[in-house]
Amino acid sequence: KKIVFSGAQPTGSLTMGNYIGAVKNWKELEEEHHCIYSIVDSHSLTVRQDPKAFKETCISFLVQYLACGLNPEKNIIYFQSHVPQHAELNWILGCNTYVGELGRMTQFKDKSEKHKDNINAGLFTYPVLMAADILLYRSNLVPVGDDQKQHLEITRDIAMRFNNLYGEVFPIPEIHTPKIGARIMSLQEPSKKMSKSDDNVNGTIYLMDSEDTILKKMKRAVTDSANHVAYNEEQPGVKNLITIYSSLTGLSIEEIVERYEGKGYGAFKVDTAEVVIEFLKPFKRRYDEYINNLDYVETIYKNGAKKAYELAEETMKVVRDRIGLLQK
Ligand code: ATP
Ligand code: MG
Repeated sequence: KKIVFSGAQPTGSLTMGNYIGAVKNWKELEEEHHCIYSIVDSHSLTVRQDPKAFKETCISFLVQYLACGLNPEKNIIYFQSHVPQHAELNWILGCNTYVGELGRMTQFKDKSEKHKDNINAGLFTYPVLMAADILLYRSNLVPVGDDQKQHLEITRDIAMRFNNLYGEVFPIPEIHTPKIGARIMSLQEPSKKMSKSDDNVNGTIYLMDSEDTILKKMKRAVTDSANHVAYNEEQPGVKNLITIYSSLTGLSIEEIVERYEGKGYGAFKVDTAEVVIEFLKPFKRRYDEYINNLDYVETIYKNGAKKAYELAEETMKVVRDRIGLLQK
């Protein structure tokens, strides 16, 4: 059995990109492995949050994780900020990470471009905290989308550097991305990844979107003038819709392309919307159940934090000792 770690930032709400790129795999992995799924609230602080709204978003995120079908009996679900060792390891690893390495991170470049008024130190050192998240549990496998490849690489570099300096402590974690859907694109700009923090909400399908909204967004999705459903680089918008269709139905790309032979984009877009809407029906049902049972939700994240804390403390005892800090 492997130790699996992953998480999402509680900003806005989960997107179809988050689901297909990451959460779908979390569900599969929890059947077989020791899985730890965090709501990485400390990461969200790299962007200014309204304190009251943030608390609500954090709860809503946990409920969305559960509504996706994650099973708290089979995994550990908790809030990152409830386990202070994340911050502790972040500091130690930060002292073993070079400014030059961090400056090469494309997410930092993209996000600082977007938030020019708030290019804070946390945004810059984000990958160090992410490395701490993963290494704190001595994780083997990290199921994430394609966009996190570079952060996984730096995590591996940091782990190897630490092991070389202080002796083997951390396994070198592997990335785990889906074969299809590792990068779901914006419906409005198919050259850009779908993001929950995109200013153009029409580019993003949120799991919490209403059925009408999903239909509208799909109908407006940017395609091309070929008007022929095919899966290739010249038709990135259509390719993206086929990817979503395939990921949610389990149909192969070929089957979908065949199904729409000789038909235009109109029917294809409406059907893709229908696939998303059908998929989200049980999600919404479960969301409503959990959001009306917040006492139960609270026991889940409190138990999760307790278990995560114990695992984290085991690692930290070794780490503190190896780097020469005295035990308390
Ligand atoms: P933000 O804009 O706030 O960074 P995000 O949509 O990128 O939001 P994250 O919380 O950063 O969401 O990422 C959660 C998980 O979803 C990560 O594993 C990430 O790789 C994955 N993910 C994010 N966007 C996509 C996408 N478009 N396609 C596939 N996977 C994605
Ligand atoms: Mg992101």
